[in-house]
Amino acid sequence: MAGFMDLIPGEERSPETESRSVMHEGLIQHIKGELDALRAANLYKTERVLNGPQGPEVQADGRRILNFCANNYLGLASDPRVVAAGRQALDRWGYGLSSVRFICGTTELHKQLEADLADFLGCEDAILYAACFDANGGLFEPLLDADCAVISDRFNHASIIDGVRLCKARRLVYDHGDMTHLADVLRESRDARLRLIVTDGVFSMDGDIAPLDQIRDLADEHDAVIMVDDSHATGVIGETGRGTPERCGVHGRVDLITTTLGKALGGAMGGCTAGPAPVIDWLRQKSRPYLFSNTLPPAICGASLEVLRILREDTGPLRRLEENQKHMRAGLRDLGFDVSRGEHPIIPVHLRRFDDDASLAARLSESLFARGVYAIGFSYPVVPRGQARIRLQISAAHTPAMIERCLEAFSAAGRELSIIPDGS
Ligand SMILES: *Cc1c(COP(=O)(O)O)cnc(C)c1O
Repeated sequence: MAGFMDLIPGEERSPETESRSVMHEGLIQHIKGELDALRAANLYKTERVLNGPQGPEVQADGRRILNFCANNYLGLASDPRVVAAGRQALDRWGYGLSSVRFICGTTELHKQLEADLADFLGCEDAILYAACFDANGGLFEPLLDADCAVISDRFNHASIIDGVRLCKARRLVYDHGDMTHLADVLRESRDARLRLIVTDGVFSMDGDIAPLDQIRDLADEHDAVIMVDDSHATGVIGETGRGTPERCGVHGRVDLITTTLGKALGGAMGGCTAGPAPVIDWLRQKSRPYLFSNTLPPAICGASLEVLRILREDTGPLRRLEENQKHMRAGLRDLGFDVSRGEHPIIPVHLRRFDDDASLAARLSESLFARGVYAIGFSYPVVPRGQARIRLQISAAHTPAMIERCLEAFSAAGRELSIIPDGS
């Protein structure tokens, strides 16, 4: 059987493989140069290898570390009820469906999950995708043509930007969260047949919330449609976790919602678009990541149904999440750290007061890790120049004692690096 080793050029080469290997070498050299440039610019990303499941504590480098950088907001990623539901679905429905949805890949589980997601999100219907990245990749092209316009918040997620690139609509951008600018853009785009305002519900770098109530008013005034990507908000924000629309008092009044199953809702994989039934029906006919990519595995559907059941019946995790988030914000502020106000479990700890903010963020992250706290530093180009930060993500699964241990590590590391005064 041909194996990987057979692909490596050997002694005897035909003229074709000879010339191919020369091109190959050129590609390899080029990429090596690009990788070196990334490393030189401190932009090379390394991946920490975990030795166990996702949770408020993780095992890495052979030790237990407090984890403050996962999207496991509700602590459901390794919840025994969720794991059991996934296992049950695996036993009952098998491992894979080996088909796309419209050929032989739709089970009762998929239909039930779509119905439950639509209900949870306050929409008529929902369509599943392998990821929210795919939901965004498959939304704009089927709905919008050249006489339409997409009006996008400047800080929208990469998957929205890529999805919009695939459609022929005019692309307009408004400054982040700037409703005056959005109103201007709406006035200037009056001639478009359909205007779609597109925004993240919660923005991942600051944890700030899109003002959906104001966006709804502007959309109504200008006869535009709203799409919200609520990936960081579904299950997290709003009285019952129904996301940014619930938080802003417009639950059931957002035209289209995309979101992920890969963050608060168990954290495995999968995404969806929810909206009016005819639009969802149209996406099932036309959306390319839906038509040409495999169906979500039954284990994920079964586990996600259990997650939605837990959310409907128990707001305990949401309340714990809120307490933890407030505890951490207040504690960091008391220590003298620069923490912006907010209500989302994303907590940026800013280093913008310092000239060497980027290297300071990296060193603070390292010092925290040495003290048993895993928290990632973000700097340019992920955030604007001069706005480097540590981004903490709080989970309902963190105990008050874990938050305290994190604060102790921040206190020690912050004094060591002269970020906060020594007396703290
Ligand atoms: C995480 C995220 C995505 C991607 O979700 P996946 O399901 O992992 O593809 C899309 N949009 C936003 C706003 C996100 O935060």
